Amino acid sequence: MPAKKLSAVLSKSTFIRGLQCQKSLYLHKKRPFLRDRLSPEQLAKFSRGTNVGVYAQELFPGGVDASPATHFQMAASVVKTRELMDAGQKVIYEAAFEHAGVIIALDILVKDEAGWKAIEVKSSKAISETYLWDASLQYFVMKGSGIEISDFSLAYINTAFVRKGPINPAELFKIESVLPVVLGRQEQVGRKIEKLKEVIELKNSPPIPIGPQCHKPYPCDFIGHCWKNVPAGSVFDLKGLDEAQKFKYFESGIIKAEDIPETELDEKTIARQVKSMAMGQAAVASKDLKAFLDQIKMPAAVFSWLDFIPAMPIFEDTRPYQSVPYSFALKGLEASENQAVLFTTPAFPEREMLEEIIDAVLGFETILIFGPQPDWDFLLKNVGAEQALQKKVELLLARSIDLSQPFNDYSIAWPGMRHADSPEVILAGLHQPVLKPAGKIKTRLEAALAIEKLALGNHNDDFDKVLREVEAFHSARVSNTVKLVELARKMAEA
Ligand code: SF4
Repeated sequence: MPAKKLSAVLSKSTFIRGLQCQKSLYLHKKRPFLRDRLSPEQLAKFSRGTNVGVYAQELFPGGVDASPATHFQMAASVVKTRELMDAGQKVIYEAAFEHAGVIIALDILVKDEAGWKAIEVKSSKAISETYLWDASLQYFVMKGSGIEISDFSLAYINTAFVRKGPINPAELFKIESVLPVVLGRQEQVGRKIEKLKEVIELKNSPPIPIGPQCHKPYPCDFIGHCWKNVPAGSVFDLKGLDEAQKFKYFESGIIKAEDIPETELDEKTIARQVKSMAMGQAAVASKDLKAFLDQIKMPAAVFSWLDFIPAMPIFEDTRPYQSVPYSFALKGLEASENQAVLFTTPAFPEREMLEEIIDAVLGFETILIFGPQPDWDFLLKNVGAEQALQKKVELLLARSIDLSQPFNDYSIAWPGMRHADSPEVILAGLHQPVLKPAGKIKTRLEAALAIEKLALGNHNDDFDKVLREVEAFHSARVSNTVKLVELARKMAEA
C-alpha cells in the first residue's frame, strides 16, 4: 500500500514541549532559527551509544520493527503498523499511530488473550510526570485510531539490579501499569491537543514571560532568545536563593541583585554575592578562608578523579547508573612537582593499579580533592581488597579536604558563582588564566562519554588516541585545581 501523506502537526516531543511552554512550541515550529546553539557537550550526549529499548524488546521477543527508514517517513510507519496488526503479528516494535493531528510511535505493542497491551520504555530510574503525560497522549492517539488497549505500562530501569553475567532484561526493568492514570487524563489530553494546535496557528508567539518553566522539566532551547533582556548581575545570577523567590523579585520589578532590600539579604550568603557584583570582583571572608587553608599540612597534593555513569551496567557486579571511576590524577603543591601522575583505564582500576594510586596519594600529608570522593568501598570490594588496603583508604580519607568548600560556602563570593561547578569555571569567573587541554576533549562530560564508548566497544576512533586525549584533559584539570589552591592562598593574604 503506498504511504499516505502525513497530516499530523504534533508528536510526543512537541506535545511535551507545548505542555512545558506554549511559546516554546510556537518558536520550535515557526521560528526554529531562534534556537540556542548546541554545545559540544550536548552534541556528544546525543551521540551516546546505549540503547535501553533493545534490551526491553528481549522481554517480548519475535517482534517486527515498524520504524520508518527516516524520521520524515512516519506516515509509512503508520501504514506498516496497521498491516502488521491486520496480518496477525503479535509483537510490534516502534508501532506508529495517527489521530487528531498527532502522530506517535510506541516502543512495544503486544497482543495476548486480553487484547493489545502497550509498553513504553524509559531509560530513567523512575516514572516522572512527563512520562505519564507522554503515555496519556499515546493512549489517546491509539484509542482514537481505533485500537482497544487492554493495558498501558511503562518499563523503566530497576536500580536495584546487579549484573551477574549477561544482562537479564526481566531483572533490568521494572514494568508498571499506568492505565488508571492514563484513563483519568484522556479528556485533558484532548483539550490540550486542540489548544496546542491553536498555538501553532498563531501569527505571533504567545506573550508568555520567562518563568520556572524555562528550566523544568527540561532546559528550554530558546533561553538565549527569551532571556536576552535579563541584565548581568540580575537576581537570577545569585546562588543559594530559591528559584521561586527569584521570580517573585523579577515579577515585582526587582531585576538587579543590588536592588533587593538589604533587610532581605542573608549576610553570609546573598549579601556577600551582591557586594561582589557591585564591586565587579570577588568578596572574601578572609577569616573563614584562612581557617580552611590552615588545615593544609605539607607536603600536600591535589587529587582528582573522573568517572562515567553508564545507564546499563557494563561490568560485573555493577548496577545501572553506577559511577565507574576510570582516571586518577595526582599533583603535588610544591613548585618542584610540576608533573601530574596519571592512572587511566576504561574500566574500574584493577588491584595493582588501585594499590599504586592509594600509595601515591598517601605520599602526601594533605590531599585536596575538588568535590566528592570516588566510591572507595566499591573499588576495594571490586578487587577483593583485604583489611590492610582498607586501612590505607581510611587514612587517605582522614587526610582529605574538599577543595570546593570555600568556593561553595561563600568564603569566596564572586559574580557568576552560581554556575561554578568546576575548577575551570571558577578560575574563569575570577578572571584567572585557565590551562586548556591540548586535545579535542575539553570537559569532564566529554571525557566521560568518550570513555564510555571505549568501554562499550563503540568507539570509531583510535583507542590509544582517546586515552591520550582523556589524559590531556585530566592533566589540565589537575593543574587548574592546583591553581585554585594558589589563588585561594593569595586571596586569603590580600
Ligand atoms: S525560554 Fe522560557 S518562556 Fe521562552 S520559550 Fe522557553 S520556556 Fe518559554
